Amino acid sequence: MTGSLSIVGLGPGGPAHRTRAAEDAIRDAEVVFGYRGYLATCPDLTGAHQNLVSSEIGAEQQRAEDAVRAAAEGARVALVSSGDAGIYGMASLALTAAAALPPARRPAVRVVPGVTAAIAAGALLGAPLARDFACLTLSDLLAPWEAVETRLRAVAAADLVLALYNPRSRGRAWQLGQARDILAEYRSGDTPVGLVTDAGRAGEQVEITTLAALDPDRAGMHTVVIVGAGGTRRLGDWLVTARSLSESR
Ligand code: SAH
Repeated sequence: MTGSLSIVGLGPGGPAHRTRAAEDAIRDAEVVFGYRGYLATCPDLTGAHQNLVSSEIGAEQQRAEDAVRAAAEGARVALVSSGDAGIYGMASLALTAAAALPPARRPAVRVVPGVTAAIAAGALLGAPLARDFACLTLSDLLAPWEAVETRLRAVAAADLVLALYNPRSRGRAWQLGQARDILAEYRSGDTPVGLVTDAGRAGEQVEITTLAALDPDRAGMHTVVIVGAGGTRRLGDWLVTARSLSESR
């Protein structure tokens, strides 16, 4: 008897930005797997009748395999990610682990979408993502920095608005400064930039600056950085990208 696995995006922070489907999937689960910090954000959805399996940051591969195994053994399982589980989240790892099982042992798997950090940050900044945009992670844990840099240059040259995930972490302090310098080769110094930290959570912070003035020390592990394109303007406290390409460079 195989069970089921819901891979659930919890959204950026508190209950206000969760979907009903995400809440239902967690409430309905017998076993909930997640990074300790994420499980702590949804105590209202879990209870004593459930088995909560929390793990540390960095244990993603193991967590995905454990969740798939528990589902294959018959449990109704939820595996939680912050934001959207498909974007730098658990869905890719868990689906790969599930696909590796023989079909007869494979649990039913579904992915429940969540509000990703770029969308939450975009809303706080106004409408910076109004036209074409790209998400890029500056983490070089799973990729050589050269590959990150190649993508940064391609996006910069394509004049896409850019959402930079993982701009900084404890062990990684230099990447954002380097990314800024690369982007500045393609975009003017007055290109608007928004830094949003802890969107939808306690301590939420929104800062608007420019590419030339972007100070990497203003970003932390919970910051997403939105870099404007040619069509992005600062209108008072808002960052707004034109819908029409003819208005951009
Ligand atoms: N799956 C997540 C992303 C995980 S990667 C999602 O879809 O949002 C972790 C990075 O996401 C952080 O370094 C930060 O850049 C961004 N992030 C996640 N939650 C955030 C929040 N509440 N506010 C701002 N940035 C956030």
